[in-house]
Amino acid sequence: MKKVVKFGGSSLASAEQFQKVGKIILSDDSRRYVVPSAPGKRFSGDTKVTDMLYQCYYAAANGEDFSGILKQIKARYNEIIGGLNLKLCLDKEFELIAKNFEEKAGSDYAASRGEYLNGLVMAAYLDFPFVDAAEVIRFDQDGNFDADLTDKILSKTLSEYTKAVIPGFYGAYEDGRVKTFSRGGSDVTGSIVARAIGADLYENWTDVSGFLVTDPRLIENPEVIDIITYRELRELSYMGASVLHEDAIFPVRKAGIPINIRNTNRPEDKGTMIVASTCQKPPFTITGIAGKKGFVAVNIEKDMMNSEIGFGRKVLYEFEKQGISFEHMPSGIDTMSIIVHQDEFEEHEQKVLAGIQRTVNPDYLEVEGDLALVAVVGRAMRANRGTAARIFAALSHAHINIKMIDQGSSEWNIIIGVRNEDFEKAIKTIYDIFITTQL
Ligand code: ASP
Repeated sequence: MKKVVKFGGSSLASAEQFQKVGKIILSDDSRRYVVPSAPGKRFSGDTKVTDMLYQCYYAAANGEDFSGILKQIKARYNEIIGGLNLKLCLDKEFELIAKNFEEKAGSDYAASRGEYLNGLVMAAYLDFPFVDAAEVIRFDQDGNFDADLTDKILSKTLSEYTKAVIPGFYGAYEDGRVKTFSRGGSDVTGSIVARAIGADLYENWTDVSGFLVTDPRLIENPEVIDIITYRELRELSYMGASVLHEDAIFPVRKAGIPINIRNTNRPEDKGTMIVASTCQKPPFTITGIAGKKGFVAVNIEKDMMNSEIGFGRKVLYEFEKQGISFEHMPSGIDTMSIIVHQDEFEEHEQKVLAGIQRTVNPDYLEVEGDLALVAVVGRAMRANRGTAARIFAALSHAHINIKMIDQGSSEWNIIIGVRNEDFEKAIKTIYDIFITTQL
């Protein structure tokens, strides 16, 4: 059994957190490859080391004095090293970082030092070998992650180690220049490492006990999802639910490796398993609810629209020309609506409308803004009759006007459009009928 374990910034923010992490890793011999983030916030209002590094580099790049902030960053590491009683000195590392900052090595290099240094601390603490991500994770000339090359280099390198620490968040171009993933990218590194070593499981340790049915800012203490499929997760993440970096799914999904989201502060909790597919019956008809505000519906009506070949294509082309991607497109016999992001659409609104008017000459063309979309996702919906009816009845009881409905043909998600001001109430209502009343 081989596991890759990734720890987020809050799991590694202090010596005390490091000790919890150490216990977790050493309690299971199959936890062999460790991917750390940079130290995160120790308390609310604290600053993440990654943000301090960006700030520090910004000062350096502007020719300002950056020694003060670099000292503060060093103090964060020394606090951890001291608290763990390690005989590790990062003086030489910090001298090199200062020199490279002066020489303007770039903000990616700067940000990556958070994970790099934390990797050194972690390797010293666990007495595991350290493998620099810059040596094994590759980006191509255009700055895109090179999955195949990385997989080759990484699996070869790691085959030489039974255990290792590989810092998250960055890799390098062929010439050795450091490049980072987008923020939160250590999740991606963990996934890449899991694929490269053919792991049985990718454990992603954070500060929540798994993926929640809905946003805890809207529902107090929502239920934790025990098991979720990649497809369900992708749908919920796309609609705003966040625990895991979006790009972290692809490498493991390809290799059929499950992800287990776990809580460093409550290791006894089982967390959420993310899997390709499962026959396990979920406890509720729906797996999760997520949503976002800020959409616009462009509503078009024209008699006999359905028999006019190319109508839809012509309409969509007007959006394409302005570089606007559409989110949904519910349609009727003589009507269609195109749902787009309001902030993307506003700037090009008149051009798109004029284009539609000119090319398809509709009987009626109207724009409705300030809409929110709510995604109700669940693999069990397919086997349960009446899910949509229950949603609509509940929303109607709550006096929420449904502006749009879109159900994917695979029948495991229903998207509902409501007014922005009804958004929170809609989520609460749906949570209540499918979860609270079933507990
Ligand atoms: N430290 C990086 C960030 O704050 C990457 C990560 O934590 O995954 O975004």
